[in-house]
Amino acid sequence: EVKAFFKRNLLPFLTISGVLSGAALGLILRYSRDTSWSKREVMYVGYLGEIFLRALKALIIPLIVSSLISAIGTLDLSLSKRIGLRAVAYYMTTTVSAVILGIILVVTIHPGSGSDEGIKQSGQAKEVTTPDLLMDLVRNIFPPNLIQACFQNYYTILIPPTLGPNDTKVPKEEYDIKGGYRNGMNIMGLVSFATCLGVALSVLGPKGRPLLNVFIALSDASMIITSWLIWISPLGIMFLIASMLIEMEDFSVMLGQLGWYFLTVIIGIFLHGFIVLPLIYTVLTRRLPFRFLANMTQAYITAFATASSSGTLPVTFQCLEEKNHIDSRVTRFVIPIGATINMDGTALYEAVAAIFITQVRGMDLSIGQIIAISITATAAAIGAAGIPQAGLVTMVMVLDVVGLPAEDVTLIIAVDWLLDRFRTMINVLGDSIGAGLVYEMSKKELAELDEIAAAEEARGGERR
Ligand code: ASP
Repeated sequence: EVKAFFKRNLLPFLTISGVLSGAALGLILRYSRDTSWSKREVMYVGYLGEIFLRALKALIIPLIVSSLISAIGTLDLSLSKRIGLRAVAYYMTTTVSAVILGIILVVTIHPGSGSDEGIKQSGQAKEVTTPDLLMDLVRNIFPPNLIQACFQNYYTILIPPTLGPNDTKVPKEEYDIKGGYRNGMNIMGLVSFATCLGVALSVLGPKGRPLLNVFIALSDASMIITSWLIWISPLGIMFLIASMLIEMEDFSVMLGQLGWYFLTVIIGIFLHGFIVLPLIYTVLTRRLPFRFLANMTQAYITAFATASSSGTLPVTFQCLEEKNHIDSRVTRFVIPIGATINMDGTALYEAVAAIFITQVRGMDLSIGQIIAISITATAAAIGAAGIPQAGLVTMVMVLDVVGLPAEDVTLIIAVDWLLDRFRTMINVLGDSIGAGLVYEMSKKELAELDEIAAAEEARGGERR
């Protein structure tokens, strides 16, 4: 009994110890001297964390592609459709409700008034408009080359026609639109391809089975590698957190407006993640959410340490399947899609940040503008990749609809590294609850499918 308890809780225990010792190590190192640490020293401290992160990232593509293809390929098409629709309905409603919650909070708390310590302006961002970004989002769904999609994303950039040092005043209308590629996996493209291939294999039936078996084996093998990797995660997390604390901005930036802004986002995402989503889960499944949520701890901590929902993907799978016993046909179908498009934390943050900036700038927003912000914030969250601070980049599009320049994201940059970690946590939590919910709602159909398979097997056995 005691032994079983110990075995079951060993990993969470180690992980939490990793977080605490990482925090202690980071703080001790940081305050052990007056001068700040050089990039090289931070790199040394974070080295083991970096190795852990690299190992996690290596699993992203094999896991996403193989799990989607095998899950969709083995399900019956009409069931795939139903599961897919349920998941998308959940993703959309929760993302939109996160945005609405964010808007209500930022309008009531009004963090943009008061003193402006900590706020600074610097740097230059690219000139990109909302339609450009939306078109890029759709472009990325159709990768022209699958190999390239493994390491590049498409993006648009506006370039001034002349580039002399005195030509800073070129009117925007004269800019040239140039497309290009940015480093970073085009996961959206890989997801769309894997979904199509999964459906095609399902249509193909027995003839597609050999290829389907390859992907089933690949996805099972990736999960085994994940289960090994998970045992080094406490160590990786420890050093990721230590290096983050050595590098972080001083908390004095949080005085004044920026602190209120930070608080508004934190209140919003915690309300959403730990009240709204669990409530939805409980109402729809008639089950209490506590155990389910506690079983996902490893995933939240990894999300916080890596600031990447895609990087956390292997751990999310592991917690859902091993601890919460969610059917792998559901997790492997909905989690890759969820980690790519469903980002409640990011959506809430986009809305709060954009409105905060308008408050700092002293703008009054009309209802129309607020609606425009909520629509683009949703799109910006869908379009953001599951990598660190992707939300800050797609934020440009939300600012653009209220006529603010891209450079204004620099107003919130000082606290973004930390907010990013919290919103990633909620993004992962949202995906997990989604998987749990879709599983509970699809249980009957999955059982029917199992019965059919068992009956077929029995008949095959008789014939033999
Ligand atoms: N880092 C977040 C994630 O991976 C995305 C964001 O920047 O909001 O989920």
